[in-house]
Amino acid sequence: MTRVVILGLIGAGKGTQAVRVAEERDIVHISTGDMFRAAATAGTELGLRARGYMERGELVPDQVTIDMLLERISEPDAEGGFILDGFPRTGGQAEALERALAERGLGVDVVTRIEVPQEVLLDRIAKRADLEGRTDDRPEVAAERLRVQRTGIEDVARFYGARGVLVVVDGVGSVDEVAARLSEALDRVSPRVETA
Ligand code: ADP
Repeated sequence: MTRVVILGLIGAGKGTQAVRVAEERDIVHISTGDMFRAAATAGTELGLRARGYMERGELVPDQVTIDMLLERISEPDAEGGFILDGFPRTGGQAEALERALAERGLGVDVVTRIEVPQEVLLDRIAKRADLEGRTDDRPEVAAERLRVQRTGIEDVARFYGARGVLVVVDGVGSVDEVAARLSEALDRVSPRVETA
């Protein structure tokens, strides 16, 4: 299992779980949200472009996001595998990833979708806003992110569902419980044979 995508709405816990999966399986954790936040903090051109979208809870335009992500997965540390957290978020991003990997004879091995009911999500987001003070966790912005993400996640799930690599994991419970379910789901999938 070397190339994993983790899907989940905000508050589904995908970031936390992605970090654990990366450690357990010795693959790199790549979060587009973290990359954009780091760029914004560093004040790079990319960061300045992304900031406005992030503050409004909108998606950063596909081309900007796709270029950044494809560059990242081409770095040497990603050769041994990666878990993508926050990407792809649109059908266009999923297609771009597929094309880029296919050029190297590779593909995504498994896509795990962490499912959590709306009321649990809203509760977790409110708590995170208090704890971490992320400005985009403010209720109005979080609501917009949820709305935007719902559409995207359905497109992305359909894309991978059609390719037979989608696995749904119940995200209700403690971090350890969800991690155990996720780990089991990943163990059930056999790594795809590399053609390159
Ligand atoms: P969350 O999943 O909690 O919304 P992320 O940290 O994944 O948070 O993303 C934060 C913000 O970064 C998003 O609201 C969006 O503006 C931007 N972003 C992250 N990933 C993508 C992506 N794949 N496509 C477009 N924008 C993205």
